[in-house]
Amino acid sequence: MKIKHLILSLSVLALVAQSIASDTVTVYSSRKAHLIKPLFDTFTEDTGISVKYLTGKGNALIERLKLEGKNTHADMYMTVDAGNLWYAASQDLLLPVQTKTLKNNIPQHLRDPNGFWSGLSVRARTIVYSTERVSRKDLSTYQDLADKKWDGRLCLRTSKKIYTKSLVASLIHHHGEAKTGEIISGWVDNLAATPNAKDSHIMDAILSAQCDVGLVNTYYFARLIAKKPDAALGLFWANQNTTGVHVNISGAGVTKYASNPKAAIQLLEWLSSAKAQRIYAGLNKEYPANPNVAADESISGWGVFKQDKMNLSQVGILQVRAVKLMQEKGYR
Ligand code: FE
Repeated sequence: MKIKHLILSLSVLALVAQSIASDTVTVYSSRKAHLIKPLFDTFTEDTGISVKYLTGKGNALIERLKLEGKNTHADMYMTVDAGNLWYAASQDLLLPVQTKTLKNNIPQHLRDPNGFWSGLSVRARTIVYSTERVSRKDLSTYQDLADKKWDGRLCLRTSKKIYTKSLVASLIHHHGEAKTGEIISGWVDNLAATPNAKDSHIMDAILSAQCDVGLVNTYYFARLIAKKPDAALGLFWANQNTTGVHVNISGAGVTKYASNPKAAIQLLEWLSSAKAQRIYAGLNKEYPANPNVAADESISGWGVFKQDKMNLSQVGILQVRAVKLMQEKGYR
């Protein structure tokens, strides 16, 4: 009898072990492997759940999710920019997830109101300037860059980039379409050159005195300063007395047809935890989305800044209007 019990409990144990081993989450990610692998490895160590991932361009992965439909292997979609996450949700590819842990860890403005996606890191887009030709007291807001004093001195990224679309969407949200149209016209009039294809080109143009001010995501600034610590470039937190710095996210959502939604939710919650947030924000010099986690040492010297608290679903909702307005005002 005893032996029979022992055999039975051993086989139960074997079954449990097997089910843990086969517990896998599959992630489609537009974030590069070196940014996500260290996280997934740590998650596996902590939980025993293994993570498979496939990386690719954000749009291509969305198309793939659409094509695969119910047959998809993906349990989670991970990408940058709320505009992309919003689009995935609008295409009915994500599952609404509202959990206490996510609500506690991630501020409301960085999460979809319906729970389709959540921010996991914060990307701030703010003013970069020449410390040789610009005084900080002349800097203030995004809209001030439309002022005549910046005539022939401004560099901007192309309007095709989702970072630009999201920023303009936030301006529409705060100021309305007419006022935002004036700001865009002012920017276009002040441009020193045709809009740049990359944030790094904007900083190169400032360093070569082609222009004096521009807008960049701060992790590009971090990368440049790591290579050229003496570069005559400064970072200025925009709109600190008004709406706050325009922030965006990298984030993720559980897919609508996830075969392992429970483990995917567990991964999403784990990614919002203090431990994961420290690893994640440090890897790409972004800011933690969880406000209880301090910024990485390498960027904490830039100081704390007030974030724009507009809910990031707005960048998706207002994106079409932003694109149309930029076209009307000749922002290429
Ligand atoms: Fe980027």
